Parts: sequence; C-alpha cells; structure tokens
Amino acid sequence: MTKNIAVIRGDGIGPEILEQALKVLDKIAEIYGHTFNYTDVDMGGCAIDKWGNPLPEEMLKKCVESDSVLLGAVGGEKWNNVPGDMRPEKGLLRLRAGMGVYSNNRPAKIWKQLADASPLKKEIVDKGIDFIIVRELIGGIYFGEHTTSEENSEKKAVDVLSYTESEIERIGRIGFETARKRNKRLCSVEKSNVLDSSRLWKAVMHRLEKEYPDVELSDMLVDNCAMQIVKNPAQFDVIVTENMFGDILSDEASMITGSIGMIPSSSLGATSCGLYEPIHGSAPDIAGMDIANPIGTILSSAMMLRYSFDMSKEADAIENAVSAVLDEGFRTADIMSNGCKKVGCSEMGKLIISQLERK
Ligand code: NAD
Repeated sequence: MTKNIAVIRGDGIGPEILEQALKVLDKIAEIYGHTFNYTDVDMGGCAIDKWGNPLPEEMLKKCVESDSVLLGAVGGEKWNNVPGDMRPEKGLLRLRAGMGVYSNNRPAKIWKQLADASPLKKEIVDKGIDFIIVRELIGGIYFGEHTTSEENSEKKAVDVLSYTESEIERIGRIGFETARKRNKRLCSVEKSNVLDSSRLWKAVMHRLEKEYPDVELSDMLVDNCAMQIVKNPAQFDVIVTENMFGDILSDEASMITGSIGMIPSSSLGATSCGLYEPIHGSAPDIAGMDIANPIGTILSSAMMLRYSFDMSKEADAIENAVSAVLDEGFRTADIMSNGCKKVGCSEMGKLIISQLERK
C-alpha cells in the first residue's frame, strides 16, 4: 500500500522525536511491503521564522491533501511575545480546524512495566488504569470570539464559549461509538450546574443515549471528574467532553499514567485523514539533548496505521515492540527507575526498530 504522510517536525524536541517515528515507519514499510512518502510541512515557531506565519495556507493545503498528518510538537519561549494570532499554537488550532478534525482521542493507559512511575498510590494503580478521553476539538471557548476592551479605565477581556447541537451531537456519537468498541461505559463530563452550554451538552447526550441502548451513559461535573481521575481512575472506560475541559482533564490523566512522553493521540473528523501527535509539547528544556522520550510519537504513528490506514497488524507490531523494549528494562530519563537501563531518544528508537526486526 502507498500512503502520503504530511510530516510536521515543529519546534523544540519535535524534530528529534519525529525522526525516530519516521525510522520506525520506514522499518514497517520494509517489513510489510508498503511505501510511505513523506512531505515536510512547516508549522509553529519554525514557520514563523521562515514565513512570518505559524501555518501558511500552502502548508495547510499539503496536510489536507495527504493521507494523514504526523506531528512532533510546536512552540517555545522564543515566540511567547508574538501577537496572539501569530503564536505557534495558533498554527495548531488552524490545522485542526482546516483538517476538520473535531474529535481528539487520548488513551490514558498504564503500561504494566511503568506502574511504579505513576504518582498515585499502588492500591489505586493496581485496580487498573485504562480509559480514553474523547475531547471536542474545534469548538467551544478556544474557537469562540476573543475580545479585549477598556471600560471605566479598566481593561476587560472576553472569551466566548458556544456550542451548537450538531457540534455536540457529532462528538457525542464518537463517544458512544468508542464506548461500544470497549467496555460500553460512557461518562459525559460538563458543568451543567453553571453553564448553559453544558446544559445543552447534557441534553444532547441523553437524546443520543436512546440510540445506543447497549452503552451505559453517566454524567459527571468537570470538577468532580478532576477529583475522580486521581481517586478512582479504574471507574472510567470512555469520557466524552468539550474542548477546554478535555484539554485539562487529558493532561491530568496523562500524569497519573507516569509520563507525558508515553502518550499518543489521534484527531479525527469525517474522513480517514487524521492528525496524529504525542500529547506533550515541544519541551524546550530538553530540546537538542537527545534525552526526550520518542515513544508517544512512535505510538502516535501506530495509531495512524490503525485508524487511518487500516493496518492493524503493523500497528500491533509497533506496540508489541515498545512493550518488549520496556520488558527488557530500557528507559528514557523521564520514565527511569531503579534497576533499569537509561537510554537516549535515538537509542530508544533503535531498540524499538531492532525489536521489529526480530519478529
Ligand atoms: P511540555 O509538554 O513541552 O513539557 C512539560 C514537561 O514535560 C517538561 O519538563 C518536559 O521536559 C517534559 N516532557 C515533555 N515531553 C517529553 C518527552 N517526550 N520526553 C521527556 N520529557 C518530556 O509542556 P510545556 O513546557 O508547558 O510547553 C512547552 C511548549 O510546548 C510551549 O511553547 C507550549 O505552548 C507548547 N505546547 C505545544 C503542544 C503541541 O505542539 N501540541 C502541546 C502543549 C504545549
């Protein structure tokens, strides 16, 4: 099979971790007889430096025309003071909107080899952590109107949070469908005791519930959910929530699994062309040191094979190779523990590739 992949290396550790994922994909192509063509796309701080724009139109076009997009990470201190509309993260928001990917799916799963890395008590971890957060990605407050003004000699800033029924319905359906493929439990998270947008959210979820009688729907307020994720994460199977709540809860969920460097994500819309990226940022504090964990990006490429290219056995091969490397005790600095062997970013990539070669 031939697939065209748009590749966004981005800033900070982005280029280092992406390099490892591409080497893994090349090995998969060699073993399974596929051809992966890569098209480089500038986005983020590097695009601001080169083009004066975090995502020029022609770069977005390359992404939309590809079979899928693989992203490292964008952003960094150097661009912190550029105007809001020109910030590296704006490129990412525009990319998501331009690709029409409205659902971000983040697994929060604890690898048995890394159970000790979780900051939670052992008795909580031992109950198992394996859930998915389905986050609405192109609506809500991040995409609402943003205005600043001055009233009575005082500055005022307003960010608008709005959702339409159809925006809620399409993400709700992804939540129900995802639960259907797992343990059939869906928790809808909102703030319906305060927000009208959340009351609409809740009403739409309960309307959809009737079409998915095999899925058990529950409701939870977002503040309670933030507590329950650390108190009893085993209760969750699939969480569906709006953009900002999902942003915050999924970072919290990533922390309880041990390392932010291990977690992949997929963003999908109505077509099979998806956006795949690790959940972490560009980690400028460790950029260029060859110590970043590339596994989140490598697992993102596995998700791309599974969900966009229908290549399940190839995705399984990558996930099994990661597991085997962890079984052998190899760890990057962020997941290092006593008795394990510390390796750098490129070494971790090589170890995963050599596991693939052994199969
Ligand atoms: P971050 O995720 O980049 O880093 C948080 C901490 O986790 C840092 O200590 C970092 O060293 C560590 N870390 C992150 N990824 C790691 C990895 N793969 N291996 C080992 N350690 C890792 O978050 P931040 O520091 O808040 O943000 C840095 C920059 O990234 C900012 O400019 C921010 O806007 C941007 N950002 C980009 C994205 C994205 O591209 N999707 C997401 C979040 C933040």
